[in-house]
Amino acid sequence: MLEPPINQLPVPDLIIGSARLSDASGGERDHIYAATGRVTRSFPLAGALEVDAAVREARAALSHWRMMPGRERARLLRALGEAVLSHAEELAAIQTIETGAPISFSNGFPEVAASHFLYNAGWADKVGGEVVPVGTSAFDYTMEEPYGVVGAIIPWNASLIAASQVLAPILTPGNTVVMKPPELAPFASLRLAELALEAGLPPGVINVVTGGAEAGESLVRHPGVSKIHFTGSRETARQVLAAAAENIVPVCLELGGKSPLLVFSDADLMDAARQAMGAVVGLSGQGCALPTRVLVEKEVYSRLLVILKGLLRRVAVGDPLEPGTQMGPLVSAQACERVLAVIERARQEQDGNLLAGGTRMDGPFGDGYFIAPTIFSDVAEESALARDEIFGPVLSVMSFEREEDAIRMANSNPYGLAAYVFTNDLRRAHRVGAALEAGTVWINGMDQMEPSMPFGGYKQSGYGRLGGRAGIREFTRSKNVWLPVGPVNGGRLL
Ligand code: NAD
Repeated sequence: MLEPPINQLPVPDLIIGSARLSDASGGERDHIYAATGRVTRSFPLAGALEVDAAVREARAALSHWRMMPGRERARLLRALGEAVLSHAEELAAIQTIETGAPISFSNGFPEVAASHFLYNAGWADKVGGEVVPVGTSAFDYTMEEPYGVVGAIIPWNASLIAASQVLAPILTPGNTVVMKPPELAPFASLRLAELALEAGLPPGVINVVTGGAEAGESLVRHPGVSKIHFTGSRETARQVLAAAAENIVPVCLELGGKSPLLVFSDADLMDAARQAMGAVVGLSGQGCALPTRVLVEKEVYSRLLVILKGLLRRVAVGDPLEPGTQMGPLVSAQACERVLAVIERARQEQDGNLLAGGTRMDGPFGDGYFIAPTIFSDVAEESALARDEIFGPVLSVMSFEREEDAIRMANSNPYGLAAYVFTNDLRRAHRVGAALEAGTVWINGMDQMEPSMPFGGYKQSGYGRLGGRAGIREFTRSKNVWLPVGPVNGGRLL
């Protein structure tokens, strides 16, 4: 394995207003490089003390930021987007070091991250209100106002994109933010906040408290926070909601998924199989919207399995820093053990046929957290393999006979983040797309997620939307203003 260029990692100090803190009340934690299991560097963990200081700074920065003309906020957000692009190589390296994602994959992240700032900047001077018809004796209008300080809790996988996707619509209408990066991968979020300061965003607009669950919980419980955005797992979301209940703050939730990929017999099978492969290559299956449940029409089922098996055999698993690598390790030793336990239980309980993979990789991979790309076929519909988010390189494949069976199977899952449909029948594409319970449906392929697309979950994949006009709406609230214009008599309108 190549040595990770850890000199590319930012100094891991907390960012609170214009101050940098290298010590924090929660102690410190080591970051581990997933390809070798070795420590890169340690970073401070925020506790309630630092979270409180960060919320105060965010509140202090609020009036200047929200009263600033929209065109000026737009200029600063565009400058941040440009800064992300001009530091693309460095940011991609940071993501690879902190998560183990192959560099061939991380190289695409900065452009996506920048696109969120560049797109949202366009809304900064267009967020207004409307005149409300109430008759001629009064004038009534609405104002779309920022909430105030938003607490943003970020997951580790593709954290640069996850942070940008959230920060851009938070900042655009004039909110300030306290961001809690993931403890498994804190560096890209920190570098992003540094770039924001360099681009001219005033100190205090983005504050960063590196830390774990304790810092996250302190942020959610802080009375100075007016809204919470949480991206992460369904299990943590339940704790976030319980904590948010104390101050009755609104919460936006972007959670996990077990997205179905429906393959009909008239589809281009190679395209469908390549899409399914995306569920294991790149992020090693550690992505919220990946198509990890493949439902295939019976007459093409065995053909698709042959293609899938062939494609998986050729996946270049390897050193994340080698440009030819398509799939790297899982993020941590715990993640690796957890996924291996899921595979083992599925084998013991005969939840499906193990067609490929299923083992931890040894030899040069032995010190890292590598699991071979894994496929189970004939997966039992009610099994954990078919229902649970595994967050590892494991594909579950099953067959269906009729369109209505495919829809029923796709929808019979508590998650509803995304769904994929492969068919060349236009009517079926629209019919099935409409019937699927998912926040996003991709038909015949998914290339990129544009920042103009509203993204979010149905069911237990969360609620609230990031992206597009919906993302701006998510981080503004409506105020109604009523003003009498008719003659007044004793406080009553005539
Ligand atoms: P996680 O739930 O373990 O952690 C997410 C964040 O929550 C981390 O920053 C963590 O420190 C923090 N946290 C932990 N306990 C907390 C608490 N009690 N209060 C407040 N914050 C707390 O998730 P993860 O492992 O970082 O990310 C993987 C999960 O995120 C998967 O389920 C994945 O599908 C989901 N995800 C969803 C999206 C989306 O857009 N829908 C995007 C990426 C990841």
